[in-house]
Amino acid sequence: MASPEIETLTQALSRLPGFGPRSARRAVLHLVKKREAALIPLVDALTAVQERLATCSICGNVDTIDPCAICADPRRDARALCVVEDVADLWALDRARLFPGRYHVLGGRLSALEGVRPEDLAIDTLLRRIEAGGIDEVVLAMNATLEGQTTAHYIAERIERFPIRVTQLAHGLPVGGELDYLDEGTLAQALRARRPVA
Ligand SMILES: [Zn+2]
Repeated sequence: MASPEIETLTQALSRLPGFGPRSARRAVLHLVKKREAALIPLVDALTAVQERLATCSICGNVDTIDPCAICADPRRDARALCVVEDVADLWALDRARLFPGRYHVLGGRLSALEGVRPEDLAIDTLLRRIEAGGIDEVVLAMNATLEGQTTAHYIAERIERFPIRVTQLAHGLPVGGELDYLDEGTLAQALRARRPVA
């Protein structure tokens, strides 16, 4: 039986995605055995992120600076904007630098079932970014789920009036496919073969 502190740590870890009770116990054991090499660097990294965690006021990305590193990067193509449902999708697309432009995180998808309405998503801020000018193309990179596609159609209609190219990821995406779970090759292909919204 471990002490309450170690038990609390084990339970906190076991609630993380990809962890279960068994892998959490193994991780804790590793941390307490490797205090200098593993535990202290982890505590420092967690503290640094925890203290500076911020949501980007431009795109909705989560980072430790605002604007986030992507919005602040002058090498990014400011004329191309990729709209995603969640931060996880942004990170998936950006992991391999698949998209040279900037992003806009909606914070979810429209869902009648879950009662998510357009005003619950960052659609107004998206319209304001497009209205401000300087954007040539908006890529709608919603998940290939019914709700994702409904959201893409809704946004396509809202931005129809702007003189910009509106594209969406190619449907090489598996139906029901969530971007976060796709490998980089599939994502790259879906992005390369993106097509105008019908
Ligand atoms: Zn940003």
